[in-house]
Amino acid sequence: MPGKVPITVAKGDGIGPEIMDATLHILMEAGAEIEPEFIEIGEKVYLAGNTSGIGEEAWESLRRTKVFLKGPITTPQGGGYKSLNVTTRKVLGLYANVRPCVSYHPFIPTKHPNMNVVIIRENEEDTYAGIEYQQTPDMTSALKLISRPGTEKIIRYAFEYARTYNRRKVTCMTKDNIMKMTDGLFHKIFDEIGAEYPDIEKEHWIIDIGMAKLADTPEQFDVVVMPNLYGDIASDLAAQIAGSVGLAGSANIGDHCAMFEAIHGSAPRRAGQNVANPSGLLHGAIMMLVHIGQYEVATRIHNAWLRTIEDGIYTYDIAKDRPWVGTKEFAQAVVERLGQLPQTLPPVDYTKGKDRKVAPVARVSVRPEPKRELDGVDVFLYNKTLSAEELGKKLEALAGPEFKLVMISNRGVKVYPGGYPETFTVDHWRCRFEGIKGPGTASHQDIRALLGRIEGAGLEWIKLENLYLFDGQRAYSLDQGQ
Ligand code: NAD
Repeated sequence: MPGKVPITVAKGDGIGPEIMDATLHILMEAGAEIEPEFIEIGEKVYLAGNTSGIGEEAWESLRRTKVFLKGPITTPQGGGYKSLNVTTRKVLGLYANVRPCVSYHPFIPTKHPNMNVVIIRENEEDTYAGIEYQQTPDMTSALKLISRPGTEKIIRYAFEYARTYNRRKVTCMTKDNIMKMTDGLFHKIFDEIGAEYPDIEKEHWIIDIGMAKLADTPEQFDVVVMPNLYGDIASDLAAQIAGSVGLAGSANIGDHCAMFEAIHGSAPRRAGQNVANPSGLLHGAIMMLVHIGQYEVATRIHNAWLRTIEDGIYTYDIAKDRPWVGTKEFAQAVVERLGQLPQTLPPVDYTKGKDRKVAPVARVSVRPEPKRELDGVDVFLYNKTLSAEELGKKLEALAGPEFKLVMISNRGVKVYPGGYPETFTVDHWRCRFEGIKGPGTASHQDIRALLGRIEGAGLEWIKLENLYLFDGQRAYSLDQGQ
């Protein structure tokens, strides 16, 4: 037997210390071969003036052990505090967030007795890159980033997960009917990589109807892969309709490190009362044991937990009108059932078959460098005084000799030429210029000259977005009305 595996543990805030103590009690009693290293992160660190909520020593431990069991963290609102959860996922490259959502009918009330869905959420990109700006008094904006390598990794992970856990289907959900470039890329890569897994059924849903279907008939889904924001919403929804957000665990997987937690937060109103349900964190810890190859202990704990639920031992959140026990008493009930199997619910067995750890998927496709040509530029202006018509006439006069003004839009709707007076406008104008000599003929020098003329005419540009052709194809969206 190899020695004990060092793991980094943060008890967290609010109910965190209580549910972590309960979870570690069960792990130790079950014989987990782990050696916890405790670090302090979260509220205390934030309030001591570190806006990231995590200090150097904590990073050192994490990067050395590469396995992190984390209690929930309170992110103070406002004041420039960064979410520690988002920071940890991104700094450690934890690109896959895996959230199994299972119902335990008839023991835990649910409208969906046969639900067993695994949400696999992209964890590093999308609007969660957290790149936001206020550009004008009227306008704020966030960048939605979807990269090819990032998407290849998460999609491949979802298919590898399905194969490892004998799941029959992978569903992808995006909004690519509207966001054709970002969500469109996610969907396209799902189709490309899905073709490498002929043994697994594949389907794509537009996120709005897909989410409605997930809430209505979750038993039709198996593994679901989504960009970050949709996956965040869908996994809370799925956990709640399975029984309670207090039940589901979450694994954040990267190629070098992994972090395990409950999906819920620090529930500060419940803190210090010995009432919180430790099951979400325990399920995260079971995934951790599987990750470090301690399959037998993981199996023993999971089956003891199922038996505890079958025996009618509940914390308040799942008891509804039935009697309930406290956090410590629930944990002790699980410990007393170690070695027992559930009688009605299907038992789990992580020791059977092939390795339950999903193969690393760091590889991304190597593609020929596309031919890139600069086609033009979108110049964003702050303007409160000129109408669309006046702005259009002024910019037409400033566009030459390198560019022609193609259109002006406001909040994505074309307002010049040929706008409608009914269109509501704000102080943030996007002015599209294309190279006068035809597609792909603009240059950076031309753009600098254009900006000089715009500034000289007393207009204020606040942001630029270059327009490119990739292998001769337009690589930017047209506006509604263009
Ligand atoms: P929350 O998940 O902490 O709690 C919402 C409600 O769900 C609670 O009031 C409670 O009634 C119930 N609940 C949650 N977990 C429970 C458990 N284990 N047992 C019993 N009941 C439980 O969400 P919130 O109140 O929106 O957030 C509180 C704080 O947690 C915020 O600061 C937020 O930023 C943070 N948060 C952290 C994480 C994380 O660390 N991964 C995730 C989400 C929210």
